[in-house]
Amino acid sequence: MESQIISVAERVQEIKPSPTLAVNAKAKALRAAGADVLNFSVGEPDFDTPEHVCQGGREAIDQRFTRYTPVPGILELREAIAKRFAEDKGWHYEPDQIQVSCGGKHGLYNMAQALFNHGDEVLIPTPYWVSYPPIVQLAGATPVSVPLSENKDFDLDPHVLESYVTDRTRGIILNSPSNPIGSIFSRTALEAVGRMALDKGWVIISDDIYDTIVYGQDTIPHILDVDDKLKEQTLILNGVSKSFAMTGWRIGYSLGPKHILAAMNKIQSQSTSNPSSVAQKAALAAVAGPQDFAEMMTEAFLPRRDFIINALISNEGITCVVPKGAFYVFPNFSAYYGRSFNDKKIGNSLEMADYLLDKALLAIVPGAAFGADDFIRFSFATSMEVITEGMKRLKDALAKLT
Ligand code: PMP
Ligand code: GLU
Repeated sequence: MESQIISVAERVQEIKPSPTLAVNAKAKALRAAGADVLNFSVGEPDFDTPEHVCQGGREAIDQRFTRYTPVPGILELREAIAKRFAEDKGWHYEPDQIQVSCGGKHGLYNMAQALFNHGDEVLIPTPYWVSYPPIVQLAGATPVSVPLSENKDFDLDPHVLESYVTDRTRGIILNSPSNPIGSIFSRTALEAVGRMALDKGWVIISDDIYDTIVYGQDTIPHILDVDDKLKEQTLILNGVSKSFAMTGWRIGYSLGPKHILAAMNKIQSQSTSNPSSVAQKAALAAVAGPQDFAEMMTEAFLPRRDFIINALISNEGITCVVPKGAFYVFPNFSAYYGRSFNDKKIGNSLEMADYLLDKALLAIVPGAAFGADDFIRFSFATSMEVITEGMKRLKDALAKLT
């Protein structure tokens, strides 16, 4: 056995690897080994990056745009992001209020490192995206789960939120449309968050990475539209991973108050230096070019969403809130907990995930990964054939439980 004379830092021992990426890796490994696994796990569009965006990357290579770039990202890209935000949302940011990072996840990491002190509490509406608590913990702060309830369409209840506030609360992470639920916070909920934030001087992190994938409404409520003053206290996260099917290019961007962005740039200068020069040029083609790609994907996702919801709720006991955005469904499977297969009891979402992988070759992410054990996440960013076959296998597998 390998000796373990040196130890891993305690803050790293406290966190787990990303469960979404772990399930995806397992599903891919099983497929590579010949198993007919259907992958509903990782959240990434099943479309190719658009051609004009790839062309932007190719040109960058051909022109040997292959050296270090400025730490916060190339100016052209930050200007294009500022222009897009001003035109599309009416929010005005200067290039020095924008940082381009190695994916949206890294933008969140930089934010947390720049914002939080040891002992700070950060409110996280739950179910949450898997990386929020570890990112907060790695900054030395404490994630505090604020439960959202299925029978309120997972909207944020101001009274519930208030009950988790302490004098150590430093901020809140909002994600709308949300991963894993696809829910969109109501204007009323955001107004309550805005009031509390203004009153107590909180920072609001608004993760808007899914804001181009919205079903049946042109605009969605946003914290910045609640009160102009909130811009001083809000950091916006967005990026091209989901809206341009660019998950592998690793480009995200953060917008917010200049002094916080300057702090994030300090961190970036001492960690990654800058995101890939080639990927930045591709992202420039995405942000400055035609914007109809996400709309096309959304149109393709809609019938899959409707099909998967209907198939899921056709199983007795399963309930599922209809997602208003993103490409996940988050059905409640708890009616099946306590049932058994060959005397082996399934007591929680992890055991359900194992059962579905072993017996039905379905890769899904257990709700426990999102802080909500009653649920299972399915990504419907996969083909209708896979969804149809997957739902058949699910029905058979559930029918075998007694
Ligand atoms: N926020 C949410 C809610 C996400 O689902 C993702 C997906 N990975 C991200 C941020 C980060 O995206 P990426 O790092 O791939 O740009
Ligand atoms: N956001 C995606 C998901 O939730 C990608 C994986 C990850 O970054 O965790 O599946």
